[in-house]
Amino acid sequence: MYQTNESLWTDEHRIFRQTVRSFLAAEVEPHIDEWAEQHAVPRGFWRKAAEAGLLGVDVPEEYGGPGGDFLHRLVIAEEIGYSPAGAVMAPSLIADGTCEILYRSANEEQRRKYLPAMVRGELLFGLAITEPDSGSDVSATRTVAQREGDEYVITGAKTYISQASVADAFMVVARTGEAPGAKGLSMIVVEADRPGFRRGRALKKMGVVASNTGEIAFDEVRVPVSNLLGEEGRGMALCLGGVNMDRITWPLIAHAASTRALEETIAFVKNRKAFGQTIFDFQNTQFRLAEMKTELAVGRAFLDDVIRDYQANGQLDTLKCAMAKMWLPEMEARIMDMCVQLHGGAGYMEEYPISRFYTAARLHRIFAGTAEIMRLIVSRSL
Ligand SMILES: Cc1cc2nc3c(=O)[nH]c(=O)nc-3n(C[C@H](O)[C@H](O)[C@H](O)COP(=O)(O)OP(=O)(O)OC[C@H]3O[C@@H](n4cnc5c(N)ncnc54)[C@H](O)[C@@H]3O)c2cc1C
Repeated sequence: MYQTNESLWTDEHRIFRQTVRSFLAAEVEPHIDEWAEQHAVPRGFWRKAAEAGLLGVDVPEEYGGPGGDFLHRLVIAEEIGYSPAGAVMAPSLIADGTCEILYRSANEEQRRKYLPAMVRGELLFGLAITEPDSGSDVSATRTVAQREGDEYVITGAKTYISQASVADAFMVVARTGEAPGAKGLSMIVVEADRPGFRRGRALKKMGVVASNTGEIAFDEVRVPVSNLLGEEGRGMALCLGGVNMDRITWPLIAHAASTRALEETIAFVKNRKAFGQTIFDFQNTQFRLAEMKTELAVGRAFLDDVIRDYQANGQLDTLKCAMAKMWLPEMEARIMDMCVQLHGGAGYMEEYPISRFYTAARLHRIFAGTAEIMRLIVSRSL
């Protein structure tokens, strides 16, 4: 069981943690091999997650949400990270972060239109920022939304988009003005049934293989101007408004997954024998395990500090979140690598959870802001 600092959570969060755990054990973990084979989670997954109260946890009740808080979101992150399910499909459940962006960016009418259906798991949104020629550098976005009367005409292509093959609608970052760089960017809702909208390939990945990732394209897709989220030219600001949330969520997932990997490894090495003793009996093994346990304790102390800041001030500290997003996935990389090593050949085999934890971990240094971009942010404070 993933142990966190109990003083961080209220009874409500503790009960919610049990709900998440039970949901993962009953509705997700038994299916992960099948979903990994299919390279997708079935549509019914989101309905079931909704019934369990796991979607839009921090959406207020007036928009159909359970009215939880940001910490409920972190509980989900920890539990999905700790579960072997997370190693094959974490981005699917975490993609529910689109509820947070929509709530924060939308006007009253848009909130009422989209949020209740999202919380019920009936309306699935994707977030479409990355393009074939722009990832970290969002200001190089080429997708254009040309205003014609009371419509935008959208043309462009996006890639590496989570839920690309299955989402009903996308929040799309597109260029609406002449202003160069990020200033000309806006965020617009594009429903997948609009003429000219096209889904491209579902991309095959090395890890989190049950989480759909793919391409979408817009060929003069017309949407009403009322699909604009926030104001024109504020697209980058809307993206940035949620980055701290991602930059604590993914480090928590990295920590929880590393914790599970270490536990799996300790159990494995205590059982496996070589040269007349268990692998655990070698001093080298014990030293490596001791190092990993120490790194986990140090990393968790920092995460707790970031969470306590939020509890005290109602907001996340940008610098600390960047540090967490830089350091925790790199700690995870060291731990996953050593855990595979201590498993020997078994660590390379899919039937041992560690092999999937290893490939999933590789993602954590890349998306939601690469480790290099985090270094840039931290460097600005020097
Ligand atoms: C599984 C998966 C799911 C994803 N889901 C989504 C999604 O739902 N929506 C979405 O919009 N995107 C999504 N992405 C895309 C993801 O956000 C990008 O891959 C990420 O932002 C990095 O961009 P890039 O791939 O273009 O790499 P690049 O930006 O081309 O970077 C390549 C390398 O150069 C480095 N680099 C770039 N700029 C600098 C710099 N200034 N200084 C030093 N080094 C630098 C990077 O750190 C990296 O190491 C997903 C990606 C994956 C793998």
